[in-house]
Amino acid sequence: MANGGPVEHGYPHLDTVRASVTALYKRLSYDTVHTFATSVAPADVAFADADDLHLGAQRVAREMVRHYRLPDARMIVGFREMTHAANVELAAGPEYFIELNDRFRTHRRDIGAALAHEVMHVYLHRLDLSFPGTRDTEILTDTAAAYLGAGWLLLDAYREDGASSQKLGYLTPEEFGYVLAKRALVFGEDPSVWFTSPQAYTAYAKGMELALRDGRQPPLTAAGWAGRRRYARDRRHAQDRRLLRLRVRRPRAAARLLPLPDLPPAHQGAGPGPGTGPLRAVPNGAGVRHLGPGEAEHPESLCLARPCRARVEG
Ligand SMILES: [Zn+2]
Repeated sequence: MANGGPVEHGYPHLDTVRASVTALYKRLSYDTVHTFATSVAPADVAFADADDLHLGAQRVAREMVRHYRLPDARMIVGFREMTHAANVELAAGPEYFIELNDRFRTHRRDIGAALAHEVMHVYLHRLDLSFPGTRDTEILTDTAAAYLGAGWLLLDAYREDGASSQKLGYLTPEEFGYVLAKRALVFGEDPSVWFTSPQAYTAYAKGMELALRDGRQPPLTAAGWAGRRRYARDRRHAQDRRLLRLRVRRPRAAARLLPLPDLPPAHQGAGPGPGTGPLRAVPNGAGVRHLGPGEAEHPESLCLARPCRARVEG
């Protein structure tokens, strides 16, 4: 197992993480995000060392494809010796080739985590959703996987036992905890019951503290663009329902009812507004850059902290 050096902690990527959640709501719509209310179930991605390696990897990949609703996509999973933990080729499809580091042959329980990330690359590729720069797109990929119900596996793959540590993904454990907590607060779900790693549980608890602090900020200055839009939509729906009832019962009063004042401009909040900030959808994953040999955008982290090197073919 490659030693990835000390695991980074805290919230060094928090701005990009928040922009990623905003980007998801903006690109997918509030309603589509809310179709991901149920997470990937532990039993559906369980992978015992006695299971057949290739059949098991295909089964877990199919579960990710089903969860992300990529009906016509087929993942071909292989294993080879490589520096990075995994790699996916973002071609036209419908077949996508995913390579996993040979080390997963003997760490099968983490294959679900690696595939949660790699298959999310395909999902975002098909949405033409990426950020400028490889690093930010990788953060977007981890954040999207966690927010849409598969990325709890990535946090659970973070383990420390004194002599060694391992972590998958580009977010710190606390940042994964934060995204999972934001998801938990929206969907009323508690992923911590699925954790097998004590360190994952601790990181989730820390992330939840920050997520709850977000919630105590005045909603229109801290909610971010997506939050403001959701607030506006919820309020509009409530207003429509109230108007409808009034029209039935008291038509004159309904006609007199004025719209509520508008929300403050989006750019006053913490998140980027439409058309601003790091979000930029680029065609066919052009924002995913092929790194040259020896070129590292994460000098602080080696193999395990760098789950993949996404490649664009053609
Ligand atoms: Zn990646």
